Amino acid sequence: MAPVIVVGAGPTGLTAAALLARHGVDCVIVDRRPAPHPQPRAVHLDDEVCRILASIGVADEFTAISRPGQGLRLLDADMRVLAEFRRAAAAGRHGFPEANMFDQPDLERILRRKVSVVDGVEATELTQHGDHVRVNGERFEYALGCDGANSFVRKAIGASMRDLGFAQRWLVVDIDTDKDLGQWDGVHQVCDTKRAATFMRVGESRYRWEFRLQHHESAADYQDLARIRPLIAPWTKVEDLRLRRVAEYTFRAQIADKWHENRVFLLGDAAHLTPPFIGQGLGAGLRDAVNLTWKLAHVRDARLPASVLDTYQIERLPHVRTMIRLAKLLGVAMTEGGEFGNLLRRVLMPRLHLVPGLRNRVLSSETPALRRSELVLRPRFRRGLAGTLCPARNPDQLITVTPESHPDLADWLRKGRARAAVVRPDGVVLQSV
Ligand SMILES: Cc1cc2nc3c(=O)[nH]c(=O)nc-3n(C[C@H](O)[C@H](O)[C@H](O)COP(=O)(O)OP(=O)(O)OC[C@H]3O[C@@H](n4cnc5c(N)ncnc54)[C@H](O)[C@@H]3O)c2cc1C
Repeated sequence: MAPVIVVGAGPTGLTAAALLARHGVDCVIVDRRPAPHPQPRAVHLDDEVCRILASIGVADEFTAISRPGQGLRLLDADMRVLAEFRRAAAAGRHGFPEANMFDQPDLERILRRKVSVVDGVEATELTQHGDHVRVNGERFEYALGCDGANSFVRKAIGASMRDLGFAQRWLVVDIDTDKDLGQWDGVHQVCDTKRAATFMRVGESRYRWEFRLQHHESAADYQDLARIRPLIAPWTKVEDLRLRRVAEYTFRAQIADKWHENRVFLLGDAAHLTPPFIGQGLGAGLRDAVNLTWKLAHVRDARLPASVLDTYQIERLPHVRTMIRLAKLLGVAMTEGGEFGNLLRRVLMPRLHLVPGLRNRVLSSETPALRRSELVLRPRFRRGLAGTLCPARNPDQLITVTPESHPDLADWLRKGRARAAVVRPDGVVLQSV
């Protein structure tokens, strides 16, 4: 059998390749860069995504390079606290902290230890031929396009990005210092139309700031510490700071109109772009990888029919769309509405704790259940457990969970009003009765 090709060795491609290897699928992963991307980007992953890292055997390494996030603080332009949501427990229902702060190059480094990447190879030609795909003239059984926002694979299958109506320019500043800035260890979100901002501690000596740029500004105005100082002054006056990098990003909300054509699939930023306000962009790519790879492995060795590959887009697209809408909502709530918006935030946010259940919803890392599909069997008008994540490590194969077989999950079954649940290798409940 020809191998599977993964185009792009960002976090999505690396995870997909490691998962394919775990399922015994022969796979080749290529990246056009001569070496890994050195710059920081993503800084947050939730506990659902930590399970995926655990299933490829890098949970301990990830714990070593990450620190638990303490919650969220909403501030006004004068740095007055409007609302605060603190996380109480050290670990959530999946056994990992619900918010984890880290540096993306560190994550890519530990993922690269699990696979062997062919660097410096750009995919420039992709054609489909019934029972195989050719990439740069070589034959593969399937191709996974994990080649980022400007995906070549997406163009090759004639898919295009649909804009979900969000584009904001932000300045992203990463700073190293051995001094403790003495700041609260959660995410600080300055809600202000003129200068919305985010601050968080990412690692032992790494701090991240993000500032919304005004129309007349660009990153060129902030290329050295002296010019960045006024922006970060509300958090620190420490002298001993090292500027790791400063960059301008346009945060966008987009989803590809087609994620799959015959033997070619799109994953990660190639299929969707999420504004980073809820830290879910990279996580979405890893969720794509875990959703698709076990299905591909089962179809390859004829344990499942090829039709189940259609469930990849059916399940993942609505999930991603919901997370993008949530990110947009937070972005708009933080930044829009001019002076009236600022006034509204000053009046409403200090009262948020009065809204029943809101604290738990803000802090909860639980994401929506997957949509019904050939592999999520749920009656149309009953919720049940199907499509949700079973709170245990991902199994290697389909398993049936009952109170007798898994006493530690008896409570979970009872709360889900189920006597038994069939759990897929990606940890998603296929059916509960
Ligand atoms: C400022 C910022 C903050 C962010 N914060 C968060 C956060 O807190 N949490 C979160 O979850 N996400 C966050 N994100 C998003 C996250 O960084 C991305 O979603 C993530 O990097 C996407 O991973 P990927 O593997 O899909 O794509 P990429 O990381 O873009 O990797 C694609 C790879 O494909 C390679 N490639 C491209 N074309 C070809 C080709 N033709 N042939 C071969 N190789 C090719 C590229 O060289 C690259 O290595 C943030 C993003 C930014 C910019």
